Amino acid sequence: MTPTRVVIVGGGFAAVQFAKTLRGKLSPSECEILLFNSENHMVFHPLLADVAGASINVDAAATPLRQMLPKVGCRTERVQRIDLAASEIAFEDGTGALNRLHYDHVVIACGAESNLSIIPGMTEHAFAFKVMRDAIDLRQHVVRQMEQAEASSDPDRRRWHLSFIIVGAGFSGVEVAGEINELVRSSTRFYHNFRKDDVVVSLVHPKDHILPEVAPTLAEFARKKMEKAGITLVLNTRAVAATHEGVELNDGRMLAGGTIVCTIGTAPSPLVQYLDAPKERGRILTQPDMRIQGHTNAWALGDCALIINAYDNKPSLTTGQFAERQGRQAALNLVRVLKGGPTRPFSFKALGELCSIGGYQAVAEMFGMHISGFLAWFLWRSVYLFKLPTWSRRFKVALDWTWDLLFPRDLSFLNSDTSKQFTHAYYRQGDFIQRQGDPARVFSVVEEGQLEVLVSDGPNGPERVVAVLGKGDFFGNAALLENRPHQTSIRARTVVRLRQASSALFSEMAGSFAPLRELLANAVTRNSDELWRRLPISKPFLDREPLTSFLDPVPGSPLRKDTSLGDAIKCLRESAAAGLMVLDENNLLWGKLDRRDLYQLVARIAIIPLDKRDGLTQRKLTDFLLPDPLCVTLQDSPFVAAGTMLQHGIAWLPVVRSLDHPEPVGYVREENIVDFMLRKVASAKESVATSALAPTEQPLQRRAESA
Ligand SMILES: Cc1cc2nc3c(=O)[nH]c(=O)nc-3n(C[C@H](O)[C@H](O)[C@H](O)COP(=O)(O)OP(=O)(O)OC[C@H]3O[C@@H](n4cnc5c(N)ncnc54)[C@H](O)[C@@H]3O)c2cc1C
Repeated sequence: MTPTRVVIVGGGFAAVQFAKTLRGKLSPSECEILLFNSENHMVFHPLLADVAGASINVDAAATPLRQMLPKVGCRTERVQRIDLAASEIAFEDGTGALNRLHYDHVVIACGAESNLSIIPGMTEHAFAFKVMRDAIDLRQHVVRQMEQAEASSDPDRRRWHLSFIIVGAGFSGVEVAGEINELVRSSTRFYHNFRKDDVVVSLVHPKDHILPEVAPTLAEFARKKMEKAGITLVLNTRAVAATHEGVELNDGRMLAGGTIVCTIGTAPSPLVQYLDAPKERGRILTQPDMRIQGHTNAWALGDCALIINAYDNKPSLTTGQFAERQGRQAALNLVRVLKGGPTRPFSFKALGELCSIGGYQAVAEMFGMHISGFLAWFLWRSVYLFKLPTWSRRFKVALDWTWDLLFPRDLSFLNSDTSKQFTHAYYRQGDFIQRQGDPARVFSVVEEGQLEVLVSDGPNGPERVVAVLGKGDFFGNAALLENRPHQTSIRARTVVRLRQASSALFSEMAGSFAPLRELLANAVTRNSDELWRRLPISKPFLDREPLTSFLDPVPGSPLRKDTSLGDAIKCLRESAAAGLMVLDENNLLWGKLDRRDLYQLVARIAIIPLDKRDGLTQRKLTDFLLPDPLCVTLQDSPFVAAGTMLQHGIAWLPVVRSLDHPEPVGYVREENIVDFMLRKVASAKESVATSALAPTEQPLQRRAESA
């Protein structure tokens, strides 16, 4: 008889317990168990904070799956899709090829993923705290911050390096804040340039008390202990954005700090997102016995599932405790199904909660009792020690914890070369990305939003906007290539997302890719053509004229997002304009179709596979154009519009009411501005030249140009 094939997707609390229980009940000749996990180990999440705080070694919180489950087929592969109708999974093998595998029963226990995108800028600037890599990276980063603080001669910068911000005061936020605080404060005695008092660990939480999961008396105890240990609790406050400098709060304050850890925000794994099954808030809905609703051979467990607990008729909590019990009870149910017996609903009475708060203190709620302080901390350690999956891990962790009690924490870290990395950066409206005169450190490409280029009128004069940059533009290249300070300042005009390469990576790229080098060199030449450099005398009279003097009305029938490509090209052929605007359903500017873009469109179509080109001209414009076009607002001067067109080599520019409400009010054409400039220069050559040089209207200076 061929054994029943059970495929388990995931290798966390639920999956491991399921595999263990099932193997204990059925022999390999009765049941083939294949467990697919994207990592080859199980992560023991309750100890992640200890890894980040260097109180245990990295490998103590990760147990190799094949050593825990010797009689189970463990595969380190990510499952891409599950076809519940065909009873098949699809996964990528080591060569990148997609394989399909049939199953008799599938168990989905792939957990959830962290989702930092719920707060702008967190993805770019914060550490998530979910997988082992997060804890390792955070530990390395915290130690690197101490090293940089030691090396810094600027007290403000030193304080920034020593400021740590943790967002979210649930279990993981409190534990990680406690561990970082302990690691940094206990290590200050090995550094000479700062003291304990220079360390700032802040915990930001929207409610008026931390640890909403435990009883108020315990939460209050934890608050007092954490404050005594030097942690600043920022309560009743939300983080609304994160930038390179720190975290912006909803009351307008900016909490400065070089380390941000975001412990809030989860999202279903992509596997669950694409699964054709009933879901609620991203979690798979199951029947009481944990089979997916509407299916007889598919089960869902742990954080990815929404399972009603028959004990209290409430949805199960997303904790390791629940995941483990679900793993065990689902395996017993599967055995019942295979033996033709009735299944049982999931039912579990939670045992309690334990949370370490740093400094050998913890809070615990066990079997209805509240315990806090050192005793709770001892209990916390003992419980987790015995919950660890193998005896070798228990010994390892016990040894690490004993070591931590007797000796200082380990401050060594692998100095991986972070200078050659691509990073993402997020800036709020009004933030400066670079300042005129500063040394060049990064090459930036605009992924989203608009920026303005500013130049100062004279060495100490005010800065004025001279051009606008948008999606796809890049900057920093000229100063890096010429090894000189920036000649312009760049400021975010809207919320901006950038992709940045460090100077070391930029030099390597520019040095090794000939086409890229050429592109960057051409951009430098083009930039030296900027209006503010080439024709500074145009600024005074262009600035005095309102932009409305140059405004052409929006062409009669602008295109819509759902206009077909064929209709759009027809409109362009019938129109005298250089291009047409594309509006969204609220009549706001969405994109633009330029005559020059048509060749680009042909090139884009040429790379679409032949069998997918049918009906191309009927497809919507949005399939071919990029949203968020470069534009100026009614508040901009004609000089900014002219400078932007010249810098981008374009002949017209949409004008919108404001950046917050980008309703098109018309467009400006290069020839209208040039015509105006010609008339001004021809009619009052002398006075224009003189007024341009008058102290109040000085031409724009190129401050560092001679360098
Ligand atoms: C920092 C932290 C501290 C915590 N502390 C506690 C605590 O003290 N007590 C407690 O009870 N709970 C705690 N939890 C919650 C607990 O860890 C989770 O509830 C539990 O891990 C859920 O188990 P799971 O089996 O559903 O998923 P997980 O343990 O998350 O395991 C899912 C596994 O599936 C893998 N996977 C995902 N997609 C795929 C795919 N497509 N193919 C193959 N593999 C895939 C993942 O790599 C992962 O290994 C903590 C969580 C965190 C993040």
